[in-house]
Amino acid sequence: MDERSTSIGGYCGRCRLLQIACICQYRPSIRSEVEFCLLTHAAEYRKPTNTGRLIAECLAPTQVYRWSRTEIDIDFQRSLEDSSCQYWLVYPAESTEHKDRIKPFDTSVGDSRQNGYKKHIFILLDATWQQAVKMLRKSSCLNHLPILSLNPERLSQYSLRRASHAHHLCTVEVAIELLGLAGEKANALLLQDYFLVFSQHYMAARSGHGVKQESESMRRLLKEQYNEVN
Ligand SMILES: [Zn+2]
Repeated sequence: MDERSTSIGGYCGRCRLLQIACICQYRPSIRSEVEFCLLTHAAEYRKPTNTGRLIAECLAPTQVYRWSRTEIDIDFQRSLEDSSCQYWLVYPAESTEHKDRIKPFDTSVGDSRQNGYKKHIFILLDATWQQAVKMLRKSSCLNHLPILSLNPERLSQYSLRRASHAHHLCTVEVAIELLGLAGEKANALLLQDYFLVFSQHYMAARSGHGVKQESESMRRLLKEQYNEVN
């Protein structure tokens, strides 16, 4: 794919932000030992405030499947049968309904391939909390998977959309927590920076202009790009 962004009606074709607030120059290429699989609710797919796509933009092997009430992607169901992978369903700890399926994450994940263990893939339900509850109920193919439950202490920083509970993390924040849990602190920071840059530029574009001042996150990501090229 062409790495450069193309403009579609004033919007960048890659980051989907207004061209004056394009964040493509900041996007890090993150290499991780873990992978993500997004099951994105149909209603979430085209929302400009959706953050699941930030994960797919930065972590190249991310799988993205569209979820709708009436059909589940057949490729997604097939991928769950891959015996070389260990899929985890990531779901909030407060759900009492699935307590017996909650398992602690195996932190030896860094050595997974050399030792013949399985590759770990985190399934994220990319949806609002209410939608995610329904998605889980209606997706029998997820019933056998171990659940990885996050209980992060920090509150969600995502203010672009009002979450029904302030402590529910948005999709990219969940991925940031998971990278940290897998021992990849530097990768977690890169994704965190990209998320902050996205939020900042989205808000600026909403007011009809670009970002006027360079933030710490913007500086760090540009430095990262420079280090990668040189
Ligand atoms: Zn862009």
